[in-house]
Amino acid sequence: MNTELYKIDEHNIDAAAKEILRKAGDIIKEGGLVAFPTETVYGLGGDALNPESSKKIYAAKGRPSDNPLIVHVATMEDVEAIVDEVPEAAYKLAEAYWPGPITMIMNKNEKVPHETTGGLDTVAIRMPNNEIALELIRQSGGYIAAPSANTSGRPSPTLARYCVEDLSGKIEMIIDGGQVGIGLESTIVDLTSEEPMILRPGYITQDMLKEVLGEVTIDRTIIDAASTEKPKAPGMKYRHYAPKGSLTIVQGSQEEVVDYINAKAKEAMAEGKRVGIIGTDATSTLYSADVIKSVGNREDEATIAHELFKVLREFDDENIDIMFSESFDESGIGQAIMNRLLKAAGHNVIIL
Ligand code: AMP
Ligand code: MG
Repeated sequence: MNTELYKIDEHNIDAAAKEILRKAGDIIKEGGLVAFPTETVYGLGGDALNPESSKKIYAAKGRPSDNPLIVHVATMEDVEAIVDEVPEAAYKLAEAYWPGPITMIMNKNEKVPHETTGGLDTVAIRMPNNEIALELIRQSGGYIAAPSANTSGRPSPTLARYCVEDLSGKIEMIIDGGQVGIGLESTIVDLTSEEPMILRPGYITQDMLKEVLGEVTIDRTIIDAASTEKPKAPGMKYRHYAPKGSLTIVQGSQEEVVDYINAKAKEAMAEGKRVGIIGTDATSTLYSADVIKSVGNREDEATIAHELFKVLREFDDENIDIMFSESFDESGIGQAIMNRLLKAAGHNVIIL
């Protein structure tokens, strides 16, 4: 299949851009697939109400079909049309954070096929905060099922060229909207039981949810390094976001971490391995290895979130065999950063 590639500036959706989005919308309405930017990561979109489209998404990504897709919408009325009943909490969260990086789980109605929800009777819904995405949703009939636009198991794409790497030849179109703003997937919150529960941490933090809803719990299995219990979001059980090389997270004081990583890097390089290190602005000059990258200033969590997947991809591009990363504080967005790092590392953590 020939994959068409178009560039659109999110901040200037002119007549030419509208025409591309209309064409992209037609592809989706006809059962085809389009990769497009959102504010979190790039999505691989198909018609959420068409079971054949969802099957194609799983096939293009090589994603296990029990891992449900997020349905992207552009209006609250479109949410009302595909669920049993919109819970009060959903209206409150939508008011506070939509369009934005939060996905809500609700009880679906018969309009949403089980192919889209991985067989579940619940559906994950989000309104993305990106003009390209919103216009594409409108042009596609209102409902786009979109997981991240990467081959299953690889780090999520924050640039169109990573979609091209993973999906070229497998889908009809890729829309390049530049580097995404956030760089981490949405927070997922389950609203189907009595107390709202975070199933995947993200840019919207637990505290931000508490401000709107009062009590909000978190599925502990997804943030405890040692947990072997099954997470509630089916997708969270897979080794995910994984770079090609092996990754170890090292926890301890700055000095201990730097010494430990340098010693291990030296050993590995002596064995002929290519070693990469994920440090921060304060430490990156203290390391020696083949490739050293800083994800930013430790205090600036938004930048770390933004850089993380990109750095993991860059290590792949540089054929790194063994990676070490510093550990991050688990407050605020740090919860999401550590969750993704732990998954990328297959929960391989050294505590000094
Ligand atoms: P991705 O599409 O790659 O951002 O991943 C979507 C995530 O949402 C996966 O971890 C899914 O398991 C989760 N998810 C989607 N729908 C549901 C649902 N109905 N219930 C629980 N988790 C869901
Ligand atoms: Mg994904």
